[in-house]
Amino acid sequence: MTKIMVVEDEENIASTLKYNLVREGYDVMTTGDGRRALEIFKQEKPDLVILDLMLPGMNGLDLCRQIRQFSIVPILMLTAREEEVDKILGLELGADDYMTKPFNLREVIARVRAMLRRMEMIQSNTTSNMVAEEPGNGEAKNGANRETQNQIKVGDLLINSSQHTVTLGDRSIALKPKEFDLLAFLARHPGQVLTREMLLERVWDYDYTGGTRTVDVHIRWLREKIEPDPSRPRYIHTIFGVGYKLDITEGATPLTVAVPAKPGV
Ligand code: CA
Repeated sequence: MTKIMVVEDEENIASTLKYNLVREGYDVMTTGDGRRALEIFKQEKPDLVILDLMLPGMNGLDLCRQIRQFSIVPILMLTAREEEVDKILGLELGADDYMTKPFNLREVIARVRAMLRRMEMIQSNTTSNMVAEEPGNGEAKNGANRETQNQIKVGDLLINSSQHTVTLGDRSIALKPKEFDLLAFLARHPGQVLTREMLLERVWDYDYTGGTRTVDVHIRWLREKIEPDPSRPRYIHTIFGVGYKLDITEGATPLTVAVPAKPGV
């Protein structure tokens, strides 16, 4: 049974969350104390943590940091104030997602499901053998994107969407699930300018009430991981006032290569 730990000191929020998660078939434990939460976490090893930012004992940020030192468990942060979102995302605490209060319960459930699904995918990928399929024949010219059997190649970037792996040249790049989804989505639309709203809608597969800063922060993280010089991006270009596009041609000419509708042409 999938275990979820809810760390929330507001009694009615904690019990509402618990009630609804239990109804969805999850095994739920709750605590309102940050320090206690860490003990419970170590004993129970939950599959996902819902974590309130403001807590007595140890605040949510510190708790998140501590958990991250030894666990990659998906963490959904709860915050009462939109201004704190910057803190959650910007500090790279390792929270996978956040929601601002008051939140819609159905949305919480949807996100919990999505996070658990992603985790399952990552785990099955790391246990299966990493087979680096050779791009083979028909290699497209200069930096054109190709998608073959779940692989997308953009310049030196090779994105494998079935194995959730990314390599840059011969170096493998560790990406967080959302970073991967974002990169894969950009790569499937080479040379196309994608607005922040579009990215939110398509990559974060639920309606976002929060700001588009989420996208900017993830783009920044991605750049730090894949760009040789993040301040002068080679792959992910900012289109001022609009959004982003992935393009290997230094932003000059958009690629016109159509990604085949069916992989493996
Ligand atoms: Ca609180």
